[in-house]
Amino acid sequence: MKQKNWIRQKRLQRRRRRALSLLLCGLVLLAAAGAYALLSDGTSSGVQEKQIFAAQEVTAPPDLQPYQPARVSLIAVGDNLIHNTLLRDAYTGGGAYDFTSFYEKIQPYVASADIAIVNQESPLGTGEPSAYPSFNTPQSCGDALIAAGFDVVSHANNHAMDAGSSALYDTLDFWDSRAQSGVIRIGIARDAEDRARVRYLERNGMKIGFLAYTYGLNGYSLPSDNPDLVSLIDRDKIAAELAAVREQCDAVVVLMHWGEEYQTTENSEQNELAQFLTEHGATLIIGGHPHVCQPCEWIESENGNRAFCIYSTGNFISAQNQTNTMVEAMLQVTLTRQADGTVVVEDPGVMPLVCYFNSSWRGYRVLPLDDYTESMAASHGLAGRCRMSPAHLRSVAEEIFGEYLIEKTIPVTHSADA
Ligand SMILES: [Zn+2]
Repeated sequence: MKQKNWIRQKRLQRRRRRALSLLLCGLVLLAAAGAYALLSDGTSSGVQEKQIFAAQEVTAPPDLQPYQPARVSLIAVGDNLIHNTLLRDAYTGGGAYDFTSFYEKIQPYVASADIAIVNQESPLGTGEPSAYPSFNTPQSCGDALIAAGFDVVSHANNHAMDAGSSALYDTLDFWDSRAQSGVIRIGIARDAEDRARVRYLERNGMKIGFLAYTYGLNGYSLPSDNPDLVSLIDRDKIAAELAAVREQCDAVVVLMHWGEEYQTTENSEQNELAQFLTEHGATLIIGGHPHVCQPCEWIESENGNRAFCIYSTGNFISAQNQTNTMVEAMLQVTLTRQADGTVVVEDPGVMPLVCYFNSSWRGYRVLPLDDYTESMAASHGLAGRCRMSPAHLRSVAEEIFGEYLIEKTIPVTHSADA
């Protein structure tokens, strides 16, 4: 109901603004008519009438211009999971790492989108890099994500506390130090005040807000002095935070780290949570964690709210070892502001990706499945142990996403800030 009230309030405000503009316009016309009566000698001529019309056109406020829908392109990919062979592949010597080549093939798709979202599945701590089971990833990986064109990075996931709270404070420091890039981090916070700050991006006059939550922390607990360090799934908090974001933004994107690993369908808990999020005003729901893709669908709640949900985008980059963990999703949608001011998801589609590495578990990269060739399949690190042909990977993606599957598509850049 809160969501409906919010929409009603916005509509009311808009109606009031329009009424005021009409009143102002009328006053301008009256003044023009008065001036005409005073200045004219009483004889009516076509030329003078034309001048009055010209005055009306010049003074017409922008509200009376024909409505132009504003659009924002948004993409989202899955888990950026830096296993030990990825650390080895990125190592350049002297304790330095360069991850940029991992994302080179996908960069045009990420950078063109007005908003691009990724889940960074490990902290970016300044301590010794480590991988499975307790991850800590060099900060240069964050720089590679910025260079690839990502705008929103979530840290709300089960590996967030892998290297202790100090690594998460390093992560917060890292993103603060990169504030000029315009990238926002979500799902982790320095304290309650920091968490309460609404995180949004403004594109084409639309404010898009972001929230992120995880089901758990792999057995680690949050520090007693900062229970807001990572946002856990808690319905009361989610409802309150969704309301706060709706108050300030035109649309809300919620990232959910949930579901069962290696299951290509969502479970009933994900269905219930997606319903709950929709009821409370989510516009778009982006799930992750299962390491494989899960379907997408429209969710409608009884209060009339509607959201689009992808239950899992799968991995983004990883050294996992099953076919399904190499088939990944790039969700592509358009957020459109309608004439009544509400922002809706349009044209949702999933562009399938594949994670490639060679038989030496090197040469890591993410690319569109459309660009994945038979010869890449033959040299893939998993060839021989799994079915890795382009046709088979496509059939996996088709089975999960059906009608939502799209060919490789560079997102339309609607905003100068993309
Ligand atoms: Zn996870």
